[in-house]
Formats: sequence, structure tokens, C-alpha cells
Amino acid sequence: MERSLIPAQIEFRSLTKMYGPVAAVKDLSLTISRGEFLTILGPSGSGKTTTLMLLAGFVAPTQGDIMIAGRSVGAVPSYRRDQGIVFQSYALFPHLTVRRNLEFPLEMRGVKADERATRVDRILERVHLADLGGRMPSQLSGGQQQRVALARALIAEPPILLLDEPLGALDRNLREQMQGEIKNLHREFGITTVCVTHDQDEALTLSDRIVVMRAGRIEQIDAPEALYDRPATRFVAKFLGEANIFESPRFKLESDAAQPPGSVAMIRPERICVAAPEAPRPPDAHQRQCVMGTVDEMIYSGPLRKYRVRVAGSALVVREHVASGQQIFQRDDQVRLEWLRSDLRFVA
Ligand code: ADP
Ligand code: MG
Repeated sequence: MERSLIPAQIEFRSLTKMYGPVAAVKDLSLTISRGEFLTILGPSGSGKTTTLMLLAGFVAPTQGDIMIAGRSVGAVPSYRRDQGIVFQSYALFPHLTVRRNLEFPLEMRGVKADERATRVDRILERVHLADLGGRMPSQLSGGQQQRVALARALIAEPPILLLDEPLGALDRNLREQMQGEIKNLHREFGITTVCVTHDQDEALTLSDRIVVMRAGRIEQIDAPEALYDRPATRFVAKFLGEANIFESPRFKLESDAAQPPGSVAMIRPERICVAAPEAPRPPDAHQRQCVMGTVDEMIYSGPLRKYRVRVAGSALVVREHVASGQQIFQRDDQVRLEWLRSDLRFVA
């Protein structure tokens, strides 16, 4: 595919959408860079779909504005906007072949027949469906249909691409495969992409930045690793991954940093090491906090082993990668837990 498209910058300016008394989206301001892959993540009802529908022009804002490539699109109806969209339900035209589905956006833009054929061939090749152009959507698997939907969203090389739970209907293996596919397409096309999902793995895998939404507002926005490693609030810590939150621990937590007022301490389960009480301490023991505990439960799940451990009235979750030669602990075993003091976080 040649890189003829020009990705657009997107800017939300104090965007609000009211449904009666309910603010589905509340005073949302955000700039999405040209070529960025931004994911909107949040629990059900947090305003993700509404934000995407506002961006797509299917829903009009109550207040605020959206700028695409520096121009207000407030007054532009969705069918006049230059954007590719992929929904969870593939929304292919059921009565048209794959080829005709792909030609449709080009026809709408007045692209001539021979040019359409060339571009359809090229994108079919690109999404590994070169032999299936003559099929009807009903003759394709879920993954194949979703590839066609992606191809159809991209074929006219729009400046922005909108994805709403694009992989939600696929089973897990296929989902992972398609995540890789979307990532490659994004890398290749460089298109500004806004994706809505409630699937944290998808968000972490695909995104340049993630917006975590809560009750219509932005709770935190950051790169995936920063968001996971340094959540600002308890809500983000618990929504993205698993977190041990120390509400009122009955033992003293050691930290290199001072605890900000009004915050609670948090540590990720995989940052805690579990060992037998008498096992030798690691070489960096002086940088670690060490506590004794009792195993409540051991849960084995393929590559991971999870322990619930009681430590002075707190229940901690510990997660470790299963490796050969590792000692396995059972309920009521005494264990020593330790973690780097620098791995302790404070969340609001
Ligand atoms: P999400 O996609 O994060 O699950 P939505 O954007 O669909 O959240 O919804 C956000 C809030 O707005 C919810 O409280 C929802 O009930 C409300 N809402 C969304 N669409 C409508 C609508 N068409 N009419 C009334 N309320 C709506
Ligand atoms: Mg939704």
C-alpha cells in the first residue's frame, strides 16, 4: 500500500453530552496526535461509546467541539466525514460480495472502476484474503469478516480510523492474532486511530496512549506502561490489572518515597516474591521489604501461579511465572514475601 494518506490530529474541546440529567461525557478535553493509536478504556457506562459516537458524528455534543485536522466538525454530518469505522458487529453488507463491500467506500468517493479493482486487489492481499473476494460475508469466519471490515475501513485511506470493540466478538486466539494484525496495519498506514474497548489486554497491546474513563470523565491518560506501572488513582490501579491496596495495614510499609496525604499504598502482585522462610535472601535484600505470611490459597493457571497470602490481617495476592525447579506452596504453609521498596506505589 502506498502511503498517500495524511493522518489527522483530533482535538476534543470541553466536550459534554447530556442525556436528560445524565452526563454521558463530561467536559472532556483531549488532543490526539497525528498517527497516534489512542484507546479509550473504562467500565461499562463510563462514556466510551458516546465519546466515539461524538467523534464519528452520530451523536451531537450538548456543549464543546471537536476539531479534526484543525477544523471544527461540529456541523459536519457523519456521512460527510472522512473516516473509517469498524464496529464490534462487523456490519458488512450481507447481500454484497467481499469485493463489492470493499469497493463501496471507493464508489462513494467517486473512484473509477479500474482504480477500484486495483485497490481492492491490493488490500485483499494485504489482509490475507486474496482468494475470498467472491464470497458473501455469510461464507466467512468471524475473523475473516473482521478483516474485511478493517480493509473496508482502510481502503479509502481516511485520515482517521475509529474502532468500537473491534475484536469483542472473536475468541481469544483469534483476538490475539487480530491484535497483531491491527498493530501492523497501524504501523504501515500510520493512521490516527481511536479505539474503544473494555479489554485491558487489547488496550495495553495496541495503544500509544490509553485514556481511562470513569463516569464520563478522563480519570488518567498515559502510555500503557506508565499507566500500569504508575496508576494515579485506586480506580485505575484496580481497573488495569490486579493490585494489592493497603487500606490500613497492621505492619509498617517501607518506602523510599514519602506517602502523599490522602493516598494509599499499592503493589502489583507480580512485584512480590514468595519464598520459604529459611531460603537465602537475594543479593539486593537491603533494598527490599520482607514480611512473613501464611498461604490461604494457591491457584494454578497455566503459565502463572497465584497465591493468596495472609500477612498480619492483610490478604495479599502474589503472582509468579511458573518455572522449573520452583518451590510450590500450599494452604497453611508459612512463606516469606518480599518486594523492592521502590515497587511500592501511592494512589489517590
Ligand atoms: P460505555 O460505552 O462506556 O459503556 P456509554 O457511552 O454507552 O458507555 O454510556 C454512558 C452513559 O450514558 C451511561 O450512563 C448510559 O446509560 C448513558 N447513555 C448512553 N447512550 C444513551 C442514550 N441514547 N440515551 C440515554 N442515555 C444514554
Ligand atoms: Mg460501549
